[in-house]
Amino acid sequence: MLKSVVVIGVVVAAAAGLLFLPVREWLEALEIYIQSLGALGPVLFGLAYVVTTVLLVPGSALTIAAGGLFGLSNGFLVVFLGANLGALCAFLLARTFIRKQVTRWARAKPKFRTLDQAIGKQGFRMVFLARLSPAFPFVLLNYLVGLTAVRTGPYILANLLGMLPGTFLFVYIGAAARDALAGQPASTDFYQQILKYVGLAATFAVVMLVTRVARKALREAEQTNEGSVVAAKPRLDADYQPTPFSDMLLVDDVHDSQVIENCHPPKWLNPTPAGKYNLVVIGAGTAGLVSAAGAAGLGAKVALIERNLFGGDCLNSGCVPSKAVIRAARAAYDARNGQEFGVHLAGEPRLAFSTAMRRMRKLRAGLSGHDSAERFRGLGVDVYIGNGRFAGPDSVEVDGQCLSFDRAVIATGARAADLPIPGLREAGYLTNETIFTLTELPRRLAVIGAGPIGCELAQSFQRLGSEVYLIEALHGILPNEDPDASEIVRQSMMDRDGLTLMCCGKELEISVAEGGKKRLTVNSHEQNYDIVVDEILVGGGRKPNLETLGLDEAGVEYTAQGVTVDDRLRTSNAKIFAAGDICSRYKFTHAADAMARIVIANALFMARRKVTDLVIPWCTYTDPEIAHVGYYEKDALAAGFEVATITQPLGQVDRAILDGETEGFARVHYDKKSGRVLGGTIVARHAGEMLGELTLAITAKQTVGVLSSTIHSYPTQAEALRKIGDAYMRTKLTPTVKKVFAKWLEWRR
Ligand SMILES: Cc1cc2nc3c(=O)[nH]c(=O)nc-3n(C[C@H](O)[C@H](O)[C@H](O)COP(=O)(O)OP(=O)(O)OC[C@H]3O[C@@H](n4cnc5c(N)ncnc54)[C@H](O)[C@@H]3O)c2cc1C
Repeated sequence: MLKSVVVIGVVVAAAAGLLFLPVREWLEALEIYIQSLGALGPVLFGLAYVVTTVLLVPGSALTIAAGGLFGLSNGFLVVFLGANLGALCAFLLARTFIRKQVTRWARAKPKFRTLDQAIGKQGFRMVFLARLSPAFPFVLLNYLVGLTAVRTGPYILANLLGMLPGTFLFVYIGAAARDALAGQPASTDFYQQILKYVGLAATFAVVMLVTRVARKALREAEQTNEGSVVAAKPRLDADYQPTPFSDMLLVDDVHDSQVIENCHPPKWLNPTPAGKYNLVVIGAGTAGLVSAAGAAGLGAKVALIERNLFGGDCLNSGCVPSKAVIRAARAAYDARNGQEFGVHLAGEPRLAFSTAMRRMRKLRAGLSGHDSAERFRGLGVDVYIGNGRFAGPDSVEVDGQCLSFDRAVIATGARAADLPIPGLREAGYLTNETIFTLTELPRRLAVIGAGPIGCELAQSFQRLGSEVYLIEALHGILPNEDPDASEIVRQSMMDRDGLTLMCCGKELEISVAEGGKKRLTVNSHEQNYDIVVDEILVGGGRKPNLETLGLDEAGVEYTAQGVTVDDRLRTSNAKIFAAGDICSRYKFTHAADAMARIVIANALFMARRKVTDLVIPWCTYTDPEIAHVGYYEKDALAAGFEVATITQPLGQVDRAILDGETEGFARVHYDKKSGRVLGGTIVARHAGEMLGELTLAITAKQTVGVLSSTIHSYPTQAEALRKIGDAYMRTKLTPTVKKVFAKWLEWRR
């Protein structure tokens, strides 16, 4: 938009110049001179064009002048040849003399590397689209593209085709201006004059349109190269039915009844829409609630649609219930392991699972008021209960009503993936949506999937008294984490908690055993087992809630990973944005919250905030916890950084020793050149609480030195980070610096 205004401004300024400056005289003088040169005139002009292009002189003025001097067809020919030749010369100069240095420098610049790879792979398309858009400065682009991996052939071809409309427009402006300045009597040529101006306006409009289309396509091409939209469109299950809230909560329980009253009020009457909404939000999980509350708070007319439970996964079947269960499991563990501290209980501590689950339900009910439908109505939001489905590119249907919008947000989240394991569906299984309704502890529990959800719940149920089998498709647990960190948690779960970890989930087969129990069998060259359990929990893999949304009707692109968005969280329909689990690989509550804030700014206030600017930490709440932020070492290396790493074992941190929590470490990766913190992993009982400091350091673009200069209270486990800061500072004390210090101190004696 801003760029369009700038281009219009330039054209208006050029027109004003033509009217008020003695352009006519100048042109006449130049024309006479060039005509005196005969056939040499256009050739010299073309060569001048090549030279100015190489010297980075913007070519638009010269292009307009060509129209004025040679007319539309000759002017076009001269500029088209001159511009293409000039562009090729600049490209070859950059390629021959600067590309090598830039490649070396770019190793540490992930954004340039991505662009370089993208242009390398899709040279023709990227250059062509950039050329179509006059918003990309022509003369700079020649050199810039020369610095990238694009091949010369596609570059020449893309130039030839991509420069056609822009060149035509500017030459046309020049030719039209010449005719206008020729000042023929208005009475005879009035209609011709009108035709010329209409032609000019039409050409201008076409170029602007082509520019818009090209820029959109270019953005998509960049995304494709980042791997976000390469997958094919999945076929959506037309018969999909979401789990009803009555299967997610105990409808007769006093606490869960309170959740229902707050989050799916049975007697709720949907409002009648009155006019267009500034923002319609589909889904009232974290992303939807934050979008709706933020937009309404800023004065927008907002509609919020939820088909199931307000609060979404986090409140009802994710973070909140799981963390309450984890806390109970930790209490059980501590009660059983107090001997070291001199705590001796008479006999084995008895754990009442039902009490632990009741506590969870009570706390969840207490928190549910904050996310309630009633609270959002109080904030001025029109709250609709029902399935939201796009009826077209700017309207949504809910409960038989049609809501038209200026902007919409898809915040429909994700759910447990359907795993294609033979026999699983027939045997029956629990997911995160149903496990929190248990009131009796399963004696034996198989947890399929050793990602964060699987590990947290597997360890908790083992500690609460179940015999847990954790089944992973690959080898090991938490495969995305730093392997040293995952290994510590694996050992803790197996050796300390007694949980059984089993691999080869890929060969897993399930059948129904006697008494409704479930039999899990693996017959592979790596492992053979045959176990019978009371319950199965599917804890691995998330699937986006795409069905029942009418995305095709709205022109919104999606893949099996979710709704496709650009860096500013806009979908392929410019009026529709997305936030949270539905569009992100960072499936965390705080990430959904941060994305919703970006959507409010970008959708309602034309801001240009980018999701890739976010620094998103995360934590897996096993015991010990694993918390991570920024790059892992391999990713930082792949991004071209020169990485150095410092690890501080907790066994050397006083507070960890005193707490008896020495298993774990803090690890920081930094850029060797600048000292800037690139990423870090902490494994500790309260790693999630410690991670904030590292997140701040990365957000504020600080060096590792800041961890040293920050005073930490003693004794805390966070001192591990201070020790890393100190270790980094010691690396600065090179033998030369030491020698200089020694000399200085000797001199002071
Ligand atoms: C067991 C578990 C533990 C977790 N623990 C943590 C944790 O400790 N920390 C953390 O940060 N994250 C955690 N998460 C992840 C976190 O819960 C999600 O990242 C977060 O809830 C995503 O929010 P969202 O708004 O994108 O989606 P959701 O919370 O899933 O909300 C989407 C909402 O949209 C509704 N909806 C869907 N389709 C429609 C439609 N067509 N019409 C109307 N409504 C619709 C759904 O009913 C749902 O209420 C956990 C997840 C699980 C499963």
